[in-house]
Amino acid sequence: TNEEKKIEEAKIRYKAPIVCILGHVDTGKTKLLDKIRRTNVQASEAGGITQQIGATMFPADAIETLTQKLPNLSLSIDVPGLLIIDTPGHESFSNLRSRGSSLCNIGILVVDIMHGLENQTIESLSIFKTKNIPFIVALNKIDRLYEWSPSKDEAFLTTFNKQSGHVQSEFMRRAKETILEFNHKGYNAALYYENPDPEEYISLVPTSAITGEGIPDMLGLILNIAQTKLRSSIIYQPKLEATVMEVKTIEGLGTTIDVILMNGVIKEDDNIIVSGFNGPISTRVRALLTPMPLREMRVKGEYLHHKALRASMGVKISAQGLDHTMAGSPLFIAKNEEEIPRLQEEVQKEITEIFKSINNKDKGVHVQASTVGSLEALLEFLKQSKIPVSSINIGPVFKKDIMKAQTQIEKGNEKQYATVMAFDVKITPEAQEYADSCGVKIISDNIIFHLFDRFTKYVEDIRKQERLEGKGKDAVFPCLLKIVEIVKNSDPITLRVDVVDGVLKVGTPLCIHEKEDLIIGKVESIELNDENIELQRPGQGSVVIKLKGLNPEQDAYEAGRDFEEIDELSSWITRESIDLLKDYYRDEMTMNDWKLVKAFKIKYEID
Ligand code: GDP
Repeated sequence: TNEEKKIEEAKIRYKAPIVCILGHVDTGKTKLLDKIRRTNVQASEAGGITQQIGATMFPADAIETLTQKLPNLSLSIDVPGLLIIDTPGHESFSNLRSRGSSLCNIGILVVDIMHGLENQTIESLSIFKTKNIPFIVALNKIDRLYEWSPSKDEAFLTTFNKQSGHVQSEFMRRAKETILEFNHKGYNAALYYENPDPEEYISLVPTSAITGEGIPDMLGLILNIAQTKLRSSIIYQPKLEATVMEVKTIEGLGTTIDVILMNGVIKEDDNIIVSGFNGPISTRVRALLTPMPLREMRVKGEYLHHKALRASMGVKISAQGLDHTMAGSPLFIAKNEEEIPRLQEEVQKEITEIFKSINNKDKGVHVQASTVGSLEALLEFLKQSKIPVSSINIGPVFKKDIMKAQTQIEKGNEKQYATVMAFDVKITPEAQEYADSCGVKIISDNIIFHLFDRFTKYVEDIRKQERLEGKGKDAVFPCLLKIVEIVKNSDPITLRVDVVDGVLKVGTPLCIHEKEDLIIGKVESIELNDENIELQRPGQGSVVIKLKGLNPEQDAYEAGRDFEEIDELSSWITRESIDLLKDYYRDEMTMNDWKLVKAFKIKYEID
């Protein structure tokens, strides 16, 4: 019929949107994917769920069957289906890229309803935000609510309405709590069936990866976003867009690359170009492979061969010379031999640019990541965290990488910069040994947040150690004092003062700005109610201070003669003393203290 023809045409016009799953560890990302793959749908043979390389294709027919369960969502389906990336998490996500932009169209952020927002939830939120990727939240593990009574694979509201009152209120309580947590992070959020405005509010879909409840809602909602918000960006384009997700050695095939095809067609014998660790690689496609359907898989590791494949698609490519391919690299096809050099240059350009923008900067840590994508993500994060980077590399950490970090010591830069930040890469034993022997710190983790926390802690430890060694002892903390009473004019000058701003510390040199920065002495002791204390802040009572001259001649200053009660005292700061504060006392300085330093800089005309 005409109607059917229109639907078929639409399916050719659009490509399957690519869906990525992110979220904190143990929230159920892998389990949700498993569940989606095994979802039982009575779809036609052709319309069944198919396993591709690195991804699962969930065809429109199958979603249609599923969403018939949804009382509150009716969909007419135009896209051929959803291509859901199989490896959840940051790692695979960051390889889904092409010329700096993300190939992931829609995100699922998994949150454990029992735990609410966690570290990597927040990390994922900021990824979706910076990459401008629409996403929904799967509020997972609803079956763990006390006395939940499951209905396998059911739509959420159907199963929810069957729950007893106390289960329902426990669910609402936890959902509300999570929504509040989103609010605190600056996001509006609502249960998807109550969402007043999907443009403004993140939709939460309650799910269980164990019972399958809420999965129809989740897929229906994603399809809905794809067909509304994303309509224009999922129109199929003939120009090839593809990225290398993983590089794998397969018995009998050698090194293969797993590629996600986002747009265009790839054929057997095509001339492909990818970036490699030792420069661009160009080779011919020997085989285009997808997994054998389950029931036909007699021998493990058997693949279906294809002559040509069209986007969106996950495909394994077998070819010669792929050994040193970089995961995260874009993939190009040369129409003819003449095009190869230009594409080789282009494929490497992006990577060269990342390297050029960073490498051999004067001061900063060395950063190493497993793929181009994760390196880029980490660099972005470090930039936001104001941690400078002096050099980068991709792949396992070798001795030569440690030597790059070591140059920071040779240059006399701060100790913390002699650090290798290793994200999701192996450290060779030689590298570790060398680092230990030359004082380079290796911080290795596969969670970006943790790298940052551990680096911050490392810097604090260094500062503490340095202060113990007496470094930074000439730092001057900022304070502004009001003289309440001159207790003794001289030998030593003794004053009762109020701390008006900043922090008064033993050892601080005090001056009178109005009298040409007359330095009347250094605080030798601070007494509060006859007890010696080390420091005093505003609003905690007046203290008695005794002053000592900076050098013998200055002992000649006298209160009442050289200065009076009405004079304002402040700490005497210089460019050097400010630098010492910055270098050694960042953790003890408050925002307000820095504000006062800034005010002094203007007042004392220090630049
Ligand atoms: P990932 O680290 O996010 O991939 O989490 P996994 O999928 O590995 O799940 C972590 C643990 O939570 C596993 O023991 C799962 O069986 C369990 N789990 C995941 N989803 C659910 C769920 O919906 N309900 C219950 N009860 N357990 C779940």
